[in-house]
Amino acid sequence: MRTTSPLPPEKQWELQQAEEARYRRGDAIASILCFCCLAFVAVPRFNSWADAAIAWAWMGAPGWRLLQLPQGSETPAKRGDKLGAYQVSDPYLPCENPAKSTADCRTWEGYPRAHLGVDVGMPTGAPLYVPSDGRAAKAKITCSQSAGGGITASIALDNSKLSFRALHLSQCLDGTKAAGEVYAYVGSTGYSTGPHLHWEEYRDGKLVEPSFRYLEQTVVGAKKP
Ligand SMILES: [Zn+2]
Repeated sequence: MRTTSPLPPEKQWELQQAEEARYRRGDAIASILCFCCLAFVAVPRFNSWADAAIAWAWMGAPGWRLLQLPQGSETPAKRGDKLGAYQVSDPYLPCENPAKSTADCRTWEGYPRAHLGVDVGMPTGAPLYVPSDGRAAKAKITCSQSAGGGITASIALDNSKLSFRALHLSQCLDGTKAAGEVYAYVGSTGYSTGPHLHWEEYRDGKLVEPSFRYLEQTVVGAKKP
């Protein structure tokens, strides 16, 4: 019967030394990585670079390009567009590549950020009306609440690819509503600096640049189809 003989003490010591050196190297690499991560979070200059890198990686994702309004669609809502007594105060800004240009970005807390809807300065309590694409006679209103968006209404038109979201509301009325009916009231809930409507448009569930037509209908009131 064969038994494995133990390594001679000097060999054991050598192995132990090699093992410890490996651990020390691992620790050093981990410390450097940790320091780099902290530097990127703590130093504002690095922080903005990291933001730009993340934004670039994220905006470069193929899905992002779907945010562009498809050709032949409705006229988009622009800054200053009149909606009855109100107007578009903040336009849609996709902020596609902040590392290259921030012309299509909005500055938020010192950093370039996308604004994926349009804002309309409106007083708290102003009613919002169910829009229509000319065919949909009703819409399903789903109310929700989040820290950022505050009280939010999701508006899904009947038998349509179109849906919308209205954020920062003071009140949302859940259920099925007819085109032209009131479904919510403007407010300043969530991350909002004052009463306004933040309006988003979706086609097949994908965010697109909001059209003037439906925004006007929700602010001013839609005709029944
Ligand atoms: Zn907004």
